[in-house]
Parts: sequence; structure tokens; C-alpha cells
Amino acid sequence: MLFPYMAKFYLLISFMLLFSPFEATASTILTPQWENVTQQGEVKRGQGLYQALRAVQIDNALALEIINALSDEVEFSKLKVGDKLEATFNQHKELVKFSFSQNPAEKHIVKKIEGKWQYEFLEEKTFWNARILEGELRANSTLQSDLLAHGLSPSVVNEIVNVLLLRVNFRMNARVGDVFKVLLHERMFQGTTIQTKVLYTSYQGVRAGKHEAFFYEDAQKSSTYTAHYTEDGQALISSGLRYPLASLHVRSGYGWRRHPVTGQRAMHRGVDLRGRRGTPVHAVADGRVVNSNYNQFAGNQIAIRHRDGSQSYYLHLDRRSVKKGDWVRTYQVIGTVGATGRVTGPHLHFGFKTPQGKWMNPLNKRMIATPKLQGERLASLKEQISSIRGLMIDLEIIKDAKYLLAQIPNQREESIFEWDVLQFDDENQRVSLMAL
Ligand SMILES: [Zn+2]
Repeated sequence: MLFPYMAKFYLLISFMLLFSPFEATASTILTPQWENVTQQGEVKRGQGLYQALRAVQIDNALALEIINALSDEVEFSKLKVGDKLEATFNQHKELVKFSFSQNPAEKHIVKKIEGKWQYEFLEEKTFWNARILEGELRANSTLQSDLLAHGLSPSVVNEIVNVLLLRVNFRMNARVGDVFKVLLHERMFQGTTIQTKVLYTSYQGVRAGKHEAFFYEDAQKSSTYTAHYTEDGQALISSGLRYPLASLHVRSGYGWRRHPVTGQRAMHRGVDLRGRRGTPVHAVADGRVVNSNYNQFAGNQIAIRHRDGSQSYYLHLDRRSVKKGDWVRTYQVIGTVGATGRVTGPHLHFGFKTPQGKWMNPLNKRMIATPKLQGERLASLKEQISSIRGLMIDLEIIKDAKYLLAQIPNQREESIFEWDVLQFDDENQRVSLMAL
């Protein structure tokens, strides 16, 4: 039932795009007088970043330069199949421009200007649509299968289910006739969803009771506080480590990589997190400091052994504020981000060993920014909740109006149905009701 209106809308958008300035930009990639050559590629299944770069004629040394030039802007640890790469070479076969794009509306570009890589971000006009999906559990359906059948991507479905799992014991308490509701904010470009935010999730049943979850977006970019919470600010992660930094941007992931200083292929037993020198570093859980010292490779380093025998490692610190033998509490500041040891710049190398003493990717641990939002963040959550509720009321009004006008009978026979769409531009200004 959504489709006819959407189709009209996409037609309009594609028409507008014919006249958009982006077409002009795209054609300047090939500058005729220099006879530059542009290589295009995309990330294929099973490919790492270096392999994908090699496919567009960028060798390892150059790859390192490019990755460094982009690492503050691009989360390379979240490389996806289909991400687009473009390399432009001049007549001397030197790389002069590189662009990386994880969705059709955005391009990260670095250009070599006077021997230095300059960063530029190109973004197309997109729209945010708000819509509600709601439904009822039937005898032979699950929440998961219903949402998937409705065209949501597996990652969005997982997000919704994981949030509800913390409040609802589906195995024990789910019953036929239980109802759920999801409010989605979907970023649209040329008829495709390029980003989805799950703003609201609710589940209600005779046995399960009523549960609501709200998406809180922190003012700081890539903040670890951006997550789902209950109305009173309880984080919807039951337990887990606290993050070592207040904002999370992975500069270099866990696993095999080419070392940024030595250029050698080596196993990276931890993750490198971006942080300015002096940024507080927090203990991820209670524990005993088993190491606090300096060495030429790790720089200032701290290791903490936790109650279950697991250990966390914090390297390249500028300052250490705890010593060997100290007991530290969860989230206590233990030092600051620095650039000590063998590094190219300030960052936190964060490592984690299981109770059995094996290195693991710390990002595979369940991590939590806070068990409960407080102060300004709690106040901001309340504001965001009230705008989420307002948005749902608006959608309900549109739904009612549409039912009247379209006189569609028996909507309730489907297991899930959608309420139609409110549309916002990138500045979050409402631009249309998508009415009939
Ligand atoms: Zn590292």
C-alpha cells in the first residue's frame, strides 16, 4: 500500500537528479588536458582493504598513505562488500586523487595538493522518511520472520530483536496476539534506503507486559552513548564492559595488517581507537592493576586483571594515573591518550585477553557506555523521547486520514502493516506528509 506514493516520489527525485550539480562534478573526474586515468573498483566478498586497493592499482606503501589520510573520517573497520573505490592517476602514473564511498550519496575524497593529501567530503541531498511498522504475533510466525518478510535488512531486524530480547523472554512469554511496533527513520537516496535508524520499539503481551525502547543520539559524533534506552534512561544492554573512551572510532582493527611504522605484515592483537592526546582513558571493568610501566614499543602501558580472570590492556598512554597493585573501579580514569612507544600518532591501543589467556577482538565483547543516562544526557533523552512520540502521533493522524480517503478495507488481516510516511530533509526539517 505504500508503494504507489513512493513510486511517484522517486520519479520526482530521479527527475531532479538529472539537473543536479553532481553530474557536473562527476564528469570532471577525467580532466582531459592532463589525460588522467581513473580506476574504479569495489570491495568484493572476502576482500580486505589492501586487496581492494590493489585492485585499483594502489600498492601497499601508497595504501598506507591513503588509509592514514582518511582514517579520521572513514571507519575502515566497517568495510562492506560493494563499497566503491576510485583512484585517479596523472600522466606520470602518480596517484593524485582517491575516493571512497560506502553509499551512493556520500564520497570521501583525498586529493594530492602540493605534496599533501587534502580531504573533502561530497554529500548528495537525501531525505529521511519516518514510518511505523506494527504487527501481531501469529501462530506460526516470529517477530524476526515477520520483519524480514517486510523487507527490512537483517542488521536492522537484529537491532530490533536484540533491544527487545533484553526486556522480553520470548521463549517463555511470547504469545499469539502479542503486538509490536517499530518507528523507523530511513535515509533515502534515489529510491534506495541507505541508512536506517530504529527510533522506537515496543512489545506488548499478556505474559510479557509492555516494553518500550527509545533511540538516543548523543550530540557528539560516534559517541558510545548513542544507543537504545528505556524511558527512564536505562541502557538496553544488560551487562558488559564500559568503553575505554567516551567516543569510539576505530583507526585500525583487530587481526592481520601491515604495521603502520614497520610496514611489516603482523597480527594486531587489539584495536586502535582514535583519541586526542590527553583524552581520559577509562578502566572497562573493576579489577587489579597488574602492570603499569613504560617500554619502547607499547609506550606507557597499563594492564588490568578483572574478577573473571580476563585482562584488559591500554597502550601508548600519555600519562598513567594508577600503579601496579591498585584496585580500580569500572570506568575509573586510569590515564590519558598519548603517542608514547612505537606509533605514528596519538591513539589508544586497547587489547583484551579471555580468562583462558587468549587474545580476542575486544569489539566482540559486549560493551556499554553507561548503565543509566544522567544529567544533560538524560535531559536530552527526554527531549528526544517527546519528539519520537510526537512523530508517532503525526503518523497516526495521517494513517487515519488515509484510511478515510482510500477506504481500504481489512487492513488488519496482514500480520504487519505500515503507517505511511513523513518526510524530512537532511536538516531534519519536515518537507512533506507524503499524503495522497
Ligand atoms: Zn594497536
